[in-house]
Amino acid sequence: MFNTLSDRLTSVLQNLRGKGRLSEADIDATAREIRVALLEADVALPVVRTFIASIKERAKGSEVSQALNPAQQVVKIVNEELVGILGGETRRLNLAKNPPTVIMLAGLQGAGKTTLAGKLAKWLRGQGHTPMLVACDLQRPNAVTQLQVVGERAGVPVFAPEPGNGVGDPVEVARRGIEEAKRAQHDVVVVDTAGRLGVDEEMMRQAIDIRAAVQPDEVLFVVDAMIGQDAVNTATAFSEGVGFTGVVLTKLDGDARGGAALSVREVTGQPILFASNGEKLEDFDVFHPDRMASRILGMGDMLTLIEQAEQAFDADQAEAAAVKMGSGQLTLEDFLEQMLALRKMGPIANLLGMLPGAGQMKDQLANLDEKHLDRVQAIIRGMTPAERDDPKIINASRRLRIANGSGVRVSDVNDLVNRFFDARKMMSQMAGRFGL
Ligand code: GDP
Repeated sequence: MFNTLSDRLTSVLQNLRGKGRLSEADIDATAREIRVALLEADVALPVVRTFIASIKERAKGSEVSQALNPAQQVVKIVNEELVGILGGETRRLNLAKNPPTVIMLAGLQGAGKTTLAGKLAKWLRGQGHTPMLVACDLQRPNAVTQLQVVGERAGVPVFAPEPGNGVGDPVEVARRGIEEAKRAQHDVVVVDTAGRLGVDEEMMRQAIDIRAAVQPDEVLFVVDAMIGQDAVNTATAFSEGVGFTGVVLTKLDGDARGGAALSVREVTGQPILFASNGEKLEDFDVFHPDRMASRILGMGDMLTLIEQAEQAFDADQAEAAAVKMGSGQLTLEDFLEQMLALRKMGPIANLLGMLPGAGQMKDQLANLDEKHLDRVQAIIRGMTPAERDDPKIINASRRLRIANGSGVRVSDVNDLVNRFFDARKMMSQMAGRFGL
């Protein structure tokens, strides 16, 4: 979702490369371009102002003038400031000392609360918790059923008012939900609440009443990152109304400009805890400001990728692959194995988006279809073990044989082998940078 912003920032910063010294004029010009890029991405003006002011101040200070490589120093400053506005440290969920931990969700209708309840439940289960969902959105037709469906998919029970039982009071449902959770010994309760299409007093009143009744350990404000500048206004209204302890950004998979993500934390002072990037239950992750910043700056999100890979591979295999990547010894056999494991993790375009330089590869990503991957798989399978092990031996006649054997053109084989060498080189450079 940050593709445009990411491209802009990367190219602004790339223009600095090769400059031995940076004049004040260079810094001013860079700051100006960053400012435009942020504003175009819908980042709120006050946030942009603060951001640019600190970049200028730091870049003009001794930090840069005394650096061996001023351009890199500017990139470092921009990265650090970006991490700062995204919240600095990763903020973990607050768990109650005496369970159940109560998490209340608040936000506009359509923000993705109900979907998030399911994602959160699934994620919590994965962390060894025994969550339960409580359906307090009694406003929207189907909201209760939708939560029940989501709960079933996530494999967690849902507490909902029984139809016809005269329970129309969400506060009462919330209270009874918590009692039920205590009785059945669930250690986390996620309370889904009603939203409206816009901020309105009655909705806010209801959220305030539920908050007062259940005393949640966390109130998570769920916001659709695609609504642009409105996200900031909505966040402010919820912050002043019901109040919240953390933010969840949803729909980060959309192609919106993403300014919301960069503004909400700074404007409300509350940290972003989670990010949602798709409709499926697994399209969800803990929000790491540092990783998001490096992703925006086109450095890729190696850490998230590694974490996801660890879930798909067994730890020993992942470690062995990481060592091989780092030392530039990755073979096509490893590559094939990893590709098969990766493909189990979901659409490959999502994963590739996290790789360094992915911002600039977005056209290729958009065109990337699973058929292409089938072809890559076929090509590698058409190679002998010796060729997979040491792709350098794949000369012209071998390429022809492989192409014929796997039903592709020689140029496809060339392409794959060349890309593999590039990727291997890039991985070992990245590994060096990240100290892997
Ligand atoms: P609620 O009214 O806040 O409970 O919102 P819902 O959970 O019903 O979500 C509204 C719509 O957004 C549904 O169609 C969801 O499938 C969709 N949705 C939720 N989260 C995401 C997300 O991260 N990405 C995308 N693309 N769609 C999402």
